[in-house]
Amino acid sequence: MGSTLALKHFLVQFGHEVTVISPTNWAGWVNWMPGVKEVLDYEQDKPKAEAILDKADWLFCLDFNIFHRTKTLTEKLKQLSCTKILIDHHQEPDTASFDYGASDVLKSSTCEMVYDFIVDSGHADMINTEIGQCIYAGVVGDTGSFRFASTHAGVHKLVADIKSRGLDHGLVHENLFDNFLENRLRFIGHVLLNRMEVFYEYNTALIAIPKNDLLKFHIKTGDTEGLVNFPQTIQGIKLVALVIDRDEERKWSFRSKGNFDCNTFARKYFEGGGHFNAAGGRSSDSLEKTVQHFMQAMRENENLLQ
Ligand code: 5GP
Repeated sequence: MGSTLALKHFLVQFGHEVTVISPTNWAGWVNWMPGVKEVLDYEQDKPKAEAILDKADWLFCLDFNIFHRTKTLTEKLKQLSCTKILIDHHQEPDTASFDYGASDVLKSSTCEMVYDFIVDSGHADMINTEIGQCIYAGVVGDTGSFRFASTHAGVHKLVADIKSRGLDHGLVHENLFDNFLENRLRFIGHVLLNRMEVFYEYNTALIAIPKNDLLKFHIKTGDTEGLVNFPQTIQGIKLVALVIDRDEERKWSFRSKGNFDCNTFARKYFEGGGHFNAAGGRSSDSLEKTVQHFMQAMRENENLLQ
C-alpha cells in the first residue's frame, strides 16, 4: 500500500490518471494512508477495476514479482497488452512477464525503490508530505523498524531526506503501531499462551492458529500481522513459523535469523517464497496435516537450524 500510493502521489503531479488496485482487501490499520480511500479492492470492485485495466497505458506492479501472487487478478494481468513495469525486491522475479523493471533483492523495501525512482528521475523536489508518509511507512514495515540486515546506510539517508522535507515520523509510528482494537491484543495474549510451541533442539518456534480462534476474537485481515515476530524475541530462536487456518488455504509465514534461508525452505515445502530471512507459503491440507508436514521439514533441516 505504501509503495503504490507513493508512486501514485508522484505520477499524478505530472497530470497522469493513476488508479491503485489491490488484488485483495487489506489491513484496516493502513487506512490512515493518504489516498487509500480511492484504492480499488479487485475482489470487491472487479468490473470497475477491469475497465480501468483495459484502458491503461502502463501497468506498474509493485512489491510482488510474479502475477500469480495476485490471486484472482492473475489471469487479467496476463491478458493485458499495455506496457508492464516491475518495481520489486523479492527473489526470483518472473522477468519474462514485464517490459521494464527494477528488481533488487538488496533493497530494504519496494518503498525505498520508489524513492530511488523519484530521486533518480531528477524530481526529488516533488516528494511531498503524502509521498514521504507512504514511503516511510513501507520502509519501517519492511525493515522491522530499521533492525533487519536489509537496513543499509542508504535507508537512513532516505529517512534523513524525507524528514528534512517535512515528514512527521512520530505520526506514522502512531498510525502503524498504536492503531489497533482491544480484541487484537487479547488475541495475541491467547495465541502466545496457548498456540505457541518451542522446539529448543531445533531452535524453532511454531504458532498454529485454528479458524475458531479467528472467529472467537473477531480477527480481520491484517490483525495477525507482526505475530510472527514475537517468538523471535526468545533467546536462541533461529526459525519462527506461523500458520493460520484461513478459509481458502493454510497460510504460512516464516522468519529466520542468521544463515537459515526461509525463501528456499518456503519454496521447497510450502509452494512459497520471499526473502532470505522472511518468506511465506501455503498449503491446501488441513491445519493438522500441514503442521505435521512442517514438523517433518523441521527435522529434515536439523543441521541448518543449529
Ligand atoms: P509474510 O509472512 O509477511 O506474509 O511474508 C513475508 C515475505 O514473503 C513477503 O515479502 C511476502 O511477499 C513473501 N511471501 C509471503 N507469502 C508468499 C507466497 O506464498 N509466495 C511467495 N513467493 N512469497 C510469499
